[in-house]
Amino acid sequence: MPQSSRLASQTWQILAETCSDTVRDAVAGIIQRDKAALATRFYSFMLEDEGAKPFLSVTTVEARLKPGLQRWLEVLFYHRSVEELAAALALQRHVGEVHARAQIPANLVARGLRLLKHEINLRLLNTPLDRNDLVHAVLYVDRLTDVAFEEMSAAFMLSSERGVRTDEAYRMFAAGRDLALEREKQSVAVLEWEARFYRLLAAGWSFDEIHSLKDSEFGLWLYHKAPLLFDETRELPLIGECVERIDQSLFPQLVFGRDRDLHSDANRALAKAVLVEVDEIKFLLRSMFDRLVDLDVGRDVLTQLFNRRFLPSILKRELSLARRAENHFCVLMLDIDHFKRVNDQHGHDAGDRVLQQVAGQIMNQVRGGDFVFRYGGEEFLVLLTAIDVDRAQAVADKIRQRIAEQEIPLAGGHTLRVTVSIGIAANDGHPDYQRLIERADKALYSAKDAGRNRIATA
Ligand code: GH3
Ligand code: MG
Ligand code: MG
Repeated sequence: MPQSSRLASQTWQILAETCSDTVRDAVAGIIQRDKAALATRFYSFMLEDEGAKPFLSVTTVEARLKPGLQRWLEVLFYHRSVEELAAALALQRHVGEVHARAQIPANLVARGLRLLKHEINLRLLNTPLDRNDLVHAVLYVDRLTDVAFEEMSAAFMLSSERGVRTDEAYRMFAAGRDLALEREKQSVAVLEWEARFYRLLAAGWSFDEIHSLKDSEFGLWLYHKAPLLFDETRELPLIGECVERIDQSLFPQLVFGRDRDLHSDANRALAKAVLVEVDEIKFLLRSMFDRLVDLDVGRDVLTQLFNRRFLPSILKRELSLARRAENHFCVLMLDIDHFKRVNDQHGHDAGDRVLQQVAGQIMNQVRGGDFVFRYGGEEFLVLLTAIDVDRAQAVADKIRQRIAEQEIPLAGGHTLRVTVSIGIAANDGHPDYQRLIERADKALYSAKDAGRNRIATA
């Protein structure tokens, strides 16, 4: 059972033992009656907080956050079955992820929850509950908010960690780190370790001279830096396993084995096994770097645009720039119309050609400070920096027009035209970049619904 469903069933169990329907109804009644007042109180409290202010614009609070908090209160305090409680906890994980994307500090969340508990408890004091029920009601509110916070924090930590990894990878990328050099250095580090091992073999063992591979220069790189560059590659954990086999299984047998005779058959076999592992490491390292170089570190191979990998880092950065400088930026979500037909009628190579041409047209229409990503198969995301929505619409329409006019040359002297639909969303101050993407995506779908080859604004 995953951690969170275990938490749901444990909590359910405890609540079932300690909470009568009277207690639950009393709390649910308060939420029902006062959820709007609680939301208002919550956000006026948060807006007073200097630390919280940057995350809250008055319009977002009114339009989104207050209704969101009311729903949150209902989901958490109206649950009537273990399934509903599990769903309520799943919502907490979602909230935690949103907080991580918006980089909202955990202490602010804890502060807000403390206020909510307090406000609900004050209201409980004014209910006709007897002393026993009152105590249980207070504990009930306490336990549910604590469990909610626990789930939120777990998801928050997980997403932030992932975020830090891509942020860091992005920094390396942005700093123009030379991959070829990195690759060379690490291959040499493995070779050096291997050479040392050969020397030790030839010279006879000395216990002090044996360095675990994990503590070698290569080992340090592998555990500290490689995970930043090779986020989710298949090879990295495999290399880790090779290192572990050498350090924890083969080495101890060699060094600590009773049989100290270096040239015994057993030791020879062990030494050979070490070298086999090292060869495997070299092979895995090569293929891992090959792939990264193919990816051109963050660029899509076909179109030479940014791939999605750095989208979160770049959007987060633009959001915080916009927060500080009050400048606006817009996101365009662009999708080629009926692209499947291009593939079906002209083949995949023609489809690839079209993707390249469309990418080129988009690049021609944007400024140096804008970002263009290949978002998915035939979808592109354009981030227009420091621009208002009117001008963003003009840019989007220009892109649309230029693409529609372009005759794309295909093999055999044929040409082809395609159209695109574009959804536009202006940053509205919501701290979660995912919301911005979703709004642009929605606008894109309304442009498709309205007949394609057009733009629409969220
Ligand atoms: P719509 O106007 O609704 O967007 O229709 P569509 O046909 O463009 O949309 P759909 O999402 O059904 O099809 C997208 C197609 O894009 C499916 C997939 O085969 C193709 N595709 C995705 N990536 C690539 C690629 O890298 N190269 C080629 N040639 N085709 C791709
Ligand atoms: Mg599509
Ligand atoms: Mg399409």
